[in-house]
Amino acid sequence: MLNYRRLIVGEMGTNCYLLWSNDKKAIIIDPGDEGTEIAQIINELGLKPIVILLTHGHFDHIMGVIDLQLIFNIPVAMSQEDIFLTNRAQKTAQYYLKKKINKIKIKTNNTSFKTIKLGEENIKIIKTPGHTPGSVCFYAQKSGLLFSGDTIFANGVGDTRHQYSSKNELQKSIQKILKIDKNVLVLPGHGDEINLILLKKLFLQNFVNYLA
Ligand SMILES: [Zn+2]
Repeated sequence: MLNYRRLIVGEMGTNCYLLWSNDKKAIIIDPGDEGTEIAQIINELGLKPIVILLTHGHFDHIMGVIDLQLIFNIPVAMSQEDIFLTNRAQKTAQYYLKKKINKIKIKTNNTSFKTIKLGEENIKIIKTPGHTPGSVCFYAQKSGLLFSGDTIFANGVGDTRHQYSSKNELQKSIQKILKIDKNVLVLPGHGDEINLILLKKLFLQNFVNYLA
């Protein structure tokens, strides 16, 4: 079983997750900001990060990458389809946050990753396009944890207001997640965690129209 901790970072209140096995090897998911603060917590916990995983390329999920890569010198895994977003992250951040940030360059991508081994766990990458073309979820089946990024939240689904978003794709992606028959804990990119059985109930009650 893996251990995890949620850290809420940045002005958009993004959930960054640290996920680690008993031997203290760790994965950093979506370091949205405050890279040095995240590094400090990693050190306090005595963790040894091996990779940074990104659920998608939006600036509020990736801004901590630069500092963490400098500090730990580890690869970053993200969908090729979202690289265009990281290239424009500086501009987008300026628009939303009204301040300048450093240019974020993601050198590695996860097209070669299908699963990532951490302790006894093989973490699966589930492609869930819609919110962005390259959105993915990370599924640690044995531990019953699903990191859902901005695809699905405790109270709704990811927004599809961008030109490159697709409501149709998102709908298919959500159905993929709802098909998981284990009662996993869903850990979204913003807001609180929720278990999948409860989420399914909420969906049936509230989101049928939204998704139609
Ligand atoms: Zn997003």
